Amino acid sequence: MRVFSIPMRTRFRGITRREGVLIHGPAGWGEFSPFAEYGPRESSRWLAAAREAAQEGWPAPVRDRIPVNVTVPAVGADQAYAMAKVSGCRTAKVKVAERGQADADDLARVEAVRDALGSAGRVRVDVNGAWSVDHAVRMIRALDRFDLEYVEQPCASLAELAEVRRKVDVPVAADESIRRAEDPLKVRAAEAADIAVLKVQPLGGVRAALEIAEACGLPVVVSSAVETSVGLAAGLALAAALPALPYACGLATLSLLEGDVVGDPLVAVDGEIVVRRPPVDEAMAGRYELAGSVWAQRMAAAEAYL
Ligand SMILES: [Mg+2]
Repeated sequence: MRVFSIPMRTRFRGITRREGVLIHGPAGWGEFSPFAEYGPRESSRWLAAAREAAQEGWPAPVRDRIPVNVTVPAVGADQAYAMAKVSGCRTAKVKVAERGQADADDLARVEAVRDALGSAGRVRVDVNGAWSVDHAVRMIRALDRFDLEYVEQPCASLAELAEVRRKVDVPVAADESIRRAEDPLKVRAAEAADIAVLKVQPLGGVRAALEIAEACGLPVVVSSAVETSVGLAAGLALAAALPALPYACGLATLSLLEGDVVGDPLVAVDGEIVVRRPPVDEAMAGRYELAGSVWAQRMAAAEAYL
């Protein structure tokens, strides 16, 4: 096993470095990188995903390239326009409802991104659960002037998502509401979303995520947990194996990290990532290697729940 610690280019979830473990097995490399707040029980799902990658590999793909979205953070309209324009992506996810900003900032940012992508582009917004029901209904109607593909996690709770969903025409996607294997079924039962955002590691691997997707029956957007190319490869494998993939995926996240552990990183070209599995590069991994860390204990503690 190799422990990595890579500085983040952009602060995310309050962290400035992305850390985790790379494990190797007969099928290749796997990544175990639960965020610090995850305890051993939850982390065991992340470990199951890493083990699957290293020991079994993944089901056969049904497509060989995955469309991805550019993520536009809560920046000013001019910068948002430029980011969407240079990305090469035909789909943009625009972050809205940033603390300290006004609704007008969100409207200007989304308008700028729509201008950048043109009428054929797809524009979705991600609220990260920050709005009340009333605020969500008002803003979704206002933002839909720029033709929204969907709105991701407009409110925090399932009951609120369901209420918003009844009141607006724009499809609702659940992201933060899905953190454990049983959550997609709860989202479905509550009629809280039209789309499920799924991540491989927290759901326990590619096979587990495929089963969850089938059981919940909602269209899926595969997203990363801000991983190295080793973890992203598992997300690509899930996106490649899903029977249907109607939306661009949130797997173009490598740019959030300052570096990577492979020589040929999984980056998007013309809005797509080719489905493949680059091997760990010893020199790259060595550059970000972390010695004497807590990760051996975190892995052993998670293993007890497998
Ligand atoms: Mg999200």
